[in-house]
This record gives sequence, C-alpha cells and structure tokens, in this order.
Amino acid sequence: MDTIYKKIADIVGSNYVSNAAEELYIYSRDQGVQPARLPDYVVMPNSTEEVQKIVALANKEKIPIVPMGGALVLSGLTIPQRGGIVLDMKRMNRILEVNEKSHYAVVEAGTSQGMLQAYLKKHHPKLKHSVPDAPPVATIGGNIAIHGSGHLSQSEGGFHTEMVTGLEVVLASGEAVKLGSCSTVPKWFSRAPIPDLAGLFMGWNGTTGVITKIGLKLFPSPKLKDVMMFMTEDVDSITDILFRIIDTEMAEDIAFFVSPKPAYFEGYQLIMISVVANSEKEMKLRLELIRESVREYIDSKEAGFLPLPPYMKVKLVGAPQKNLSEFADVMKGGGFEYVGAIMPVESIPEAYRAGLEITSKHDITYSMGARIVGRGSCVMFYYAYPFNRADSKNIETVAKALEETNEKALEIGGIPWKTEISGQQLILERMEPGTYKMMTEIRKLLDPNGIMNPGNWEVQS
Ligand SMILES: Cc1cc2nc3c(=O)[nH]c(=O)nc-3n(C[C@H](O)[C@H](O)[C@H](O)COP(=O)(O)OP(=O)(O)OC[C@H]3O[C@@H](n4cnc5c(N)ncnc54)[C@H](O)[C@@H]3O)c2cc1C
Repeated sequence: MDTIYKKIADIVGSNYVSNAAEELYIYSRDQGVQPARLPDYVVMPNSTEEVQKIVALANKEKIPIVPMGGALVLSGLTIPQRGGIVLDMKRMNRILEVNEKSHYAVVEAGTSQGMLQAYLKKHHPKLKHSVPDAPPVATIGGNIAIHGSGHLSQSEGGFHTEMVTGLEVVLASGEAVKLGSCSTVPKWFSRAPIPDLAGLFMGWNGTTGVITKIGLKLFPSPKLKDVMMFMTEDVDSITDILFRIIDTEMAEDIAFFVSPKPAYFEGYQLIMISVVANSEKEMKLRLELIRESVREYIDSKEAGFLPLPPYMKVKLVGAPQKNLSEFADVMKGGGFEYVGAIMPVESIPEAYRAGLEITSKHDITYSMGARIVGRGSCVMFYYAYPFNRADSKNIETVAKALEETNEKALEIGGIPWKTEISGQQLILERMEPGTYKMMTEIRKLLDPNGIMNPGNWEVQS
C-alpha cells in the first residue's frame, strides 16, 4: 500500500493524497443512515490528466474508486463499499467558458452550484442555471451523476441531466472521452444530433466513469421575482390545482409541501409558486393569470392564497430554498436522509398518505413535499427524515422508515431517486431482466475490472 500511496502522490502531489486516520474517518460516512466504510486513500485531483492517471493506476491495481463531489447525496453513494480510493473532485472547480450568445457554460465537474451561481450573477447577470435546493457546496458533477433537479426543472426542461449539452468523462481504462457536439467541433452546444452516449454516465452514480467536464444550458434571468403560496386542506384536489397552475405556463418553479410544524400548518397542503418577469406589467399579468387559474377553488372557499409578509417573501424567492437544509437539523445531532421518489403528479395524494402512515407508525418527524419537473411530466416527491446521529435507536428507526418508504414509492408506481444500495436492489428486482442485462453488459464493457463505485447498480449476491 505504501507503493500505491507514493504513486498517487507522484500524480497529484503529496498534499492531495491522504491515508491519515482522521481523514479516512470523515470520508467514510455521510449525513444519512448508511453504515460507514473506510476508504484506503482520499485523493484530490486537479485536472483531467491527473484523473486519467489515478484511474489508470486503480484499474491496473484493481483498486475500487469512488468519485465524490460535495458528498451531499445523503444516501451513502459516496461511501466506499469496498474501500479503495475516494476521488474528491472539489479542486476541479474551474468555470471554463460562459457562452453568452449561445446560452451555455462549460465547467469542471467539481464546480459547486454556489460557485457557478455567484459567477453568473457577477459576470453574466442576464443568465442563470438551474439550482438544486442542496447546500451550495454540492457539485454540478455529483448532481448530474444522480439525475438531480432544481428551481428551473418545472419550466425549463426537466431534470438537470436534460440540461446537459456535453460531457468529458474519464473511463476506467484511463482514457478521456468527449460526448456531444464538443466531440466533433470545439463548441459545447448540444448532445444531438450524434448518438447520445452521455446517457451512459448520467444517473449511474459514478459506476461507469468519472465526469470531468460538463456543458450546461443557461437560461435568462429576469429582473423581478415574486412568490405566491396557495393553501388547501384537500389533498385529493392537489393534482388538479397543480395542473391548472402549470398549464398557465406563468410559473418558474412550483413546489408542493406539507409541514407539521409550526402546529397551525398541520393538515394543510401548501403550494409555493415562484414567478419571474422583466417588468412590473409582465409580473402583474403572470400573477393574475395564476390567480385566475384557481379562481373556482377560491370562490368555493375550499382553498386560497396565503398573504405573505415581505420578510417571508424575501426568504422564499431565492434559489436554493433553505427550508429543507434548516429542517435537516431539527432533531439536532446532524442526521438527515430523504427518499426522493420520481412519480407522476397524480400520485401525490397516495404518496402523501403513505408518508403519513409510515411516519406515524414509526413516530418520527418528517417533512414531505414535491417539486414539479418538466411542466408536470412528473414530480420529485420527497420524504425527509431528520435524526440524531448520537442515538442509535433513532438511526435504526429512520433506516427502517426509509426502507419502507422506498418500497411504498415503488408500490404506488414511482421510482426511488438517488437511492441507497438497498433501494437500488428494490428497483433492480422489478426492472425488466433485459434492461438489467444491458446495464450489466455496458458496465462490463466500460469497467471490466469492476473498480467504479462497486456495489452500486448491481444485484447483491
Ligand atoms: C437539504 C438538501 C436539499 C437537497 N435538495 C436537492 C434538490 O433540490 N435537487 C437535487 O437534485 N438534489 C438535492 N439534494 C441532494 C444532493 O445534495 C444533490 O443532488 C447534490 O447536487 C449532489 O451533489 P454532490 O456533489 O453532493 O454529489 P455527491 O454526493 O458527492 O455524489 C453523488 C453521486 O454522484 C457520484 N459522483 C460525484 N461526482 C462525480 C463525478 N465527477 N463523476 C461521476 N460520478 C460522480 C458519486 O459517486 C455519487 O454516486 C439535496 C440535499 C440536501 C442535503
């Protein structure tokens, strides 16, 4: 192991590799309930060439390698199941290009959401990218490796992977490949019209290669922002209400949530609608059209808009939304994990009732909600459970609740997203055998020695 350590240090420099116990400890876990596993080395590369050399070395020596961004996925996907190297990508954080004329950016995979957001705000204020509600240190690479979504997913084309215009990836062989228009011409504007190989690396949890560069769509950033909050007690009317609002095409982001705290919110279904515009006149029209779309509900007194005081609006207009981050530590002790399940909008009432049943059975605190994706093609429905990491009983209960939630999500026709290895097993059990066979063959081809984030997306024996 000393020889390997020296070889890694020769590639990245001795400051950027570690096998010190305290560092291995930190990289062996995340905030969720998954059991910790120690890596053998933590490595921070600074360039695609360094990633290539590290991966080639790992492949030759058959050392597992786990790419890591912000390690904020919460479901243990950066925990090295079979030891080996955790490849922390955060030094690869350069913003390489912002093409104002063609509305795309090219970034290194370790660029954080917060960095790109701040950079655009300062240098290209007319443009923005879609921001997840994760803490800003989450990376662009980590987010697309799991099919993330964010504040423009409702209005601007769906999952963040659908906003990717090109990739550079280091394969297990150590070879670097470019995918999309950048493979053929020196511009990163589109994955079409050539065969779309980028899908071999998005949603795969780092099991097929290390993403090193990403082309990303940018969108206009209007000057004015506003937010509305609609409230009803009837969960069965939620699908209809949501589609009335979606179909106006006036809202940027639409999120449904229920909040048992403060107590006077319990039992109410809330819908947060973010609206942007370039002028007061446009804003007025957008707000009015949204209000009109749900007029019947307001007139029947079944539902209505909550007046929002200005201080609350300030809190609610921004991206990322901090509510979930703030909620994450309500139990104190730093434990937090959620099942996000991708499902049709019409499943919300059933998903909500299932969540209430599971949380009341286990007597645990929760937050539930859903973000609209792709103008209503689906939602990301989250069941968030905070816990105290110092309380092993509490961890056990939450782990059980998460497992049951994954099962329930599948039962009602959804698919757990960014799910733990046990949740991946549930998906694979239900998957068409031909699809799983194809996934396995692709992996064998791309990673014959099985070094890339092993344990993920494979049937456990
Ligand atoms: C409070 C809170 C709110 C959240 N809200 C959202 C939200 O609104 N939308 C959303 O999408 N997510 C959300 N998340 C989940 C998660 O934090 C984000 O998706 C985040 O962007 C993941 O990025 P990361 O850099 O932390 O990835 P990591 O956790 O580091 O990695 C995730 C996966 O990607 C792989 N990976 C990482 N980097 C690479 C790479 N360069 N190449 C190949 N594979 C790689 C890892 O091996 C792992 O399997 C939230 C999390 C929290 C804590």
